[in-house]
Amino acid sequence: MLVDDAAGAAALTGYFRRHADIAVQHQCGVILETPTWRASQDWGSRLGYSAAELRRANEAAVSLLCQLRAGYQGAASSPVVVSGCIGPRADGYHPDERMGADEAQAYHAGQIGTLAGTDVDLVHAMTISYAAEAVGITRAAAEAGLPATISFTTETDGRLPDGSSLAEAVTTVDAATGRSPVYYGVNCAHPAHFAAALPGGATGARIRSIRANASRKSHAELDESPDLDTGNPAELARDYLRLRAQHPAITIVGGCCGTDVRHVQAIADAFAPHTRGGLSAGCDEAGFVGDHDGLGAVAEGELGQDALDVGFGGLAGDA
Ligand SMILES: [Zn+2]
Repeated sequence: MLVDDAAGAAALTGYFRRHADIAVQHQCGVILETPTWRASQDWGSRLGYSAAELRRANEAAVSLLCQLRAGYQGAASSPVVVSGCIGPRADGYHPDERMGADEAQAYHAGQIGTLAGTDVDLVHAMTISYAAEAVGITRAAAEAGLPATISFTTETDGRLPDGSSLAEAVTTVDAATGRSPVYYGVNCAHPAHFAAALPGGATGARIRSIRANASRKSHAELDESPDLDTGNPAELARDYLRLRAQHPAITIVGGCCGTDVRHVQAIADAFAPHTRGGLSAGCDEAGFVGDHDGLGAVAEGELGQDALDVGFGGLAGDA
């Protein structure tokens, strides 16, 4: 893992710094997502990590971002949030072995328990492909005393890989958890895939965060592609503006596969006339200034105005 050696840590710091600088430039908040999308038990085992080593890797990832945040507290006029990034247990696109909510809670409780012992402000589960896993993650976070946000991914038809609609997924998780997630997001799909599938009304208003892929390719095509498809940053930024015009609850934006600092810069520039409040960087970094108790206020208030969420696509690996 990159956090394990000095060169890797320097590369991560530079990567997140470039994104945090965009937030400073636009006077908006930023969420830094920890590089821990694959730092859960099954994936750690594949790398030969013991439980103790995995715990240390999660802690090191948070500490790297907290150090970075400390350097921005003078420059940033808006919150710098550190978010503990959680990934799906199975392959995000082929959830062959789906868990029930109880099993998902038991599995994710390990990593979430580690993160709860750090200075993260919340946990953000990304690329989730079915509701029951989201329910388990949300319950594990609540048990650990951490706010949770859930981002679902969609296929090219705007539906989750298990065939359910975004509206069904949000409604199911809210019903099973007493509306416990702070908000929902969509990630790892192109706006052309999910724009028409975003629900309206009260269910739609629960979806506040978008981290799209640069590419219009399907998950299957991306999996087989030897190259990173970086798409067109200006075009993607225009897609985001259209999404926002139709769904004003979307105030937290960033990029997923194929995006990098150019896309996030283009999106931030496009949003600039509206931007106030927050920018969020990294799938593995998110940072709210303040403690856990402050998160609700930030999520509902300042980040409610606007935030950039960046870093996941470039760093999180095989999303
Ligand atoms: Zn992705």
